[in-house]
Amino acid sequence: MTKQASNPQTLHWQGLSDAHHLAPFSDFKQLKEKGPRIITKADGVYIWDSEGNKILDAMAGLWCVAIGYGRDELAEAASKQMKELPFYNLFFQTAHPPVLELAKAISDIAPAGMNHVFFTGSGSEGNDTMLRMVRHYWAIKGQPKKKVIISRINGYHGSTVAGASLGGMTYMHEQGDLPIPGIVHIPQPYWFGEGGDMTPEAFGIWAAEQLEKKILEVGEENVAAFIAEPIQGAGGVIIPPDSYWPKIREILAKYDILFVADEVICGFGRTGEWFGSDFYGNTPDMMTIAKGLTSGYIPMGGLIVRDEIVEVLNQGGDFNHGFTYSGHPVAAAVALENIRILRDEKIIERVKNETAPYLQKRLRELADHPLVGEVRGVGLLGAIELVQNKQTRARFEGKGVGMICRQHCFDNGLIMRAVGDTMIISPPLVISKAEIDELVTKARLCLDLTAAAVLA
Ligand code: PMP
Repeated sequence: MTKQASNPQTLHWQGLSDAHHLAPFSDFKQLKEKGPRIITKADGVYIWDSEGNKILDAMAGLWCVAIGYGRDELAEAASKQMKELPFYNLFFQTAHPPVLELAKAISDIAPAGMNHVFFTGSGSEGNDTMLRMVRHYWAIKGQPKKKVIISRINGYHGSTVAGASLGGMTYMHEQGDLPIPGIVHIPQPYWFGEGGDMTPEAFGIWAAEQLEKKILEVGEENVAAFIAEPIQGAGGVIIPPDSYWPKIREILAKYDILFVADEVICGFGRTGEWFGSDFYGNTPDMMTIAKGLTSGYIPMGGLIVRDEIVEVLNQGGDFNHGFTYSGHPVAAAVALENIRILRDEKIIERVKNETAPYLQKRLRELADHPLVGEVRGVGLLGAIELVQNKQTRARFEGKGVGMICRQHCFDNGLIMRAVGDTMIISPPLVISKAEIDELVTKARLCLDLTAAAVLA
């Protein structure tokens, strides 16, 4: 495919991309030929490209722009902090006000008993921190053999060596000999794709029982922790059957292993609660955070740790881990302002009471479409399964229907992401009902265009 831009500026930037840029999660050669779409500005729930197209960003960037684009308060918080103290590190017994105020603000919204935060630059680094901290914890407790982390196939926990190993994406494991030793995976609770003839409830129990099976196989004395996203995001907005989390809780209560919730997507209001763990009534020992923490305006991640774990870590001497940008003062100032806006403007309450029920109702209207096998969602997360046969849930093999639909969306002013043949959305938390109407209208149009292309 050749580049189709009409604006000379676009061609200039695409030329720079071609000559100098290696883009994440991209086919370098294909991108050279096609040229990236250049995004130049944004406001509210909309982004604009260099060709002047206005696009409704139903993915909030990469799940992260919770309070929407264009909030001056965050720019001002960053500017003020940059002038006052642009950088200082937290190593060797120093700290600065923004990181301490932020640790307190996060403790105030985190589940009861989770009052300490270790800061990182990203979600991946948060999970790297988790892996090292969990093993350190068991070593301090005199059980250094407890090293194995159980994770789930098709879970996503980042792209560093530890993050990609914890994740269960086979296409990531294939590059670079992953996973690293000491990480094992169990099946995911993805009923639509893998539930076969079982009811969702029975399948949820089966999927949860895989955790117990794995604990027994590896040996409780070797298992350090189980990590899971409350709802799998990058895997395709996989919402576990109602039976899943209660059964997992029952299993976790029987064994002496830690439970880590990866809240990088679900945290900071996505489900209509502050954290996905609140939504499901789960009580993790640690929670990884990033994305919505700063609404993506500046990179920041972290790990929230339960008090009992901290008490043990306090006995362990130095924790030999940290990053130059752990708790960066500018990122911390932005995060504080972001949390203030989420709280003072009651954005999460509005998601819970108004916009999430509305989005879920409107999205489900698409279930009658000939291509749609299932519509599911929670809070402001949604997934639309594209199928050839609605009854048997059979896919269009090898047609790349998801990517066809994604392209129609892009061309018609809507960003929806394709995970295989599952279309997913995660709009900014500030999306209005009128913007939800626009989203659903455009989604239906793009489903029609996709149907015309693949059924022709
Ligand atoms: N965990 C989850 C659940 C994620 O969705 C992501 C990012 N998509 C990460 C971890 C990794 O975060 P980052 O890209 O900031 O390293």
